[in-house]
Amino acid sequence: MLPSGHWDIPLLTDIFPASVVPHFFSIRCPHPDDDADICCWRWDRQFSVSSAYEKLMANRWSAPHPFWKKVWSLAIPQRLRLFIWLTLNQKLMTNVERARRGISESPCCDLCGGLSESVLHVLRDCPPARAIWDSILPPSAKTRFFSLDVSEWLLENISYVSISNSYNLAWNLLFSSCIWQIWKIRNDRVFANISHDPSIVLSRCLSWATNYANFIFHPVLTLHH
Ligand SMILES: [Zn+2]
Repeated sequence: MLPSGHWDIPLLTDIFPASVVPHFFSIRCPHPDDDADICCWRWDRQFSVSSAYEKLMANRWSAPHPFWKKVWSLAIPQRLRLFIWLTLNQKLMTNVERARRGISESPCCDLCGGLSESVLHVLRDCPPARAIWDSILPPSAKTRFFSLDVSEWLLENISYVSISNSYNLAWNLLFSSCIWQIWKIRNDRVFANISHDPSIVLSRCLSWATNYANFIFHPVLTLHH
């Protein structure tokens, strides 16, 4: 119900939609005791680019899955977190993805001739990757490891800390280091025609993971030497 009296209701309703007009009457008139007006950002009081972006994109995002929190909170180097995030979002430019986007004609694997170079194929099932996993996984973990789909596979392995390995490293750190190095050797082979000996790749995975584990547990020593 709109108040009557001296308000020029017909004029307001001429200008604004009828549903909007009642809002004008719900706004309290200023009072001399009120604080002075200030400019502020309506959502966060203090403007920030991140809050603006969040508001602009709010309708395009589904509710955040705890999965993403897990990725960004992992005790692994930031570049590995980013790599896992890209992998989960199907952003790795495998041949399957390149063919899907029309960048290349063939989804086949350049390394082994497999029909579909998917994320799982590159990172787990292609022979160079498989050789690394076979050498570090305990036999009891292999069946499950090689049977999961890509999301389950990544989520499970970044969640495990305690899969036993003879290197005494947290499993999620060793796993992340391996998938990163496997992706790098795939790119060396595809884009520079450089092949790597699997044992050298494995030692690189271990050295990356070990250095980072030392940095986490002995940061001061690492920084000073
Ligand atoms: Zn392959």
